[in-house]
Amino acid sequence: MNIILPDLPYAKDALAPYISANTLEFHHGKHHKTYVDNANKLLSESDLANDSLESIIKKTAGDPSKIGIFNNVAQVWNHSFYWQCIHPNGGGIPTGAIASKINAVWGSFEKFAEEFKNAGLTQFGSGWAWLVIENDQLKIVKTANADNPIAHGQKPLLTVDVWEHAYYLDYQNRRADYLNVFVEKLINWNFVNICLG
Ligand code: MN
Repeated sequence: MNIILPDLPYAKDALAPYISANTLEFHHGKHHKTYVDNANKLLSESDLANDSLESIIKKTAGDPSKIGIFNNVAQVWNHSFYWQCIHPNGGGIPTGAIASKINAVWGSFEKFAEEFKNAGLTQFGSGWAWLVIENDQLKIVKTANADNPIAHGQKPLLTVDVWEHAYYLDYQNRRADYLNVFVEKLINWNFVNICLG
């Protein structure tokens, strides 16, 4: 299997001014592409070349001898998922089945948004904040570096990239501002509902 870099599901300038074309040029065209290239090189030298990304993530998680494959393949998956989690004219109060499920767990969208943004804000260093399902229960979790909920038996529904490369060109050190905009203007709730199934 040769991993390919997926096209962005929108134009490079479609998320401006919240995420600039310049950020997407580097984040998708350089960072994501490098993870794809590194993953293909490492997989070609392994016995995992015919596995799906999800299978490789599960098989290599926690194995120090496979850390390079895990990091690059998980980052390919994380970024492909992240691009689908955001959309022009997204954000704000959710629609569909996820809306009532969020209200059932957190009481209100505002409380959910506060906890989701706090997970992203308190992830020390590089990583991701997620909305996941574990044992039929919605949860907010955060992961460091390339780590991914699939490696922990959780099903991802939504993620925000809090590596500095995701926001530094537009927000510099203001991660909280990026997280506010992500929740208010960018989340693709239609995609979250599709993931919910
Ligand atoms: Mn990233």
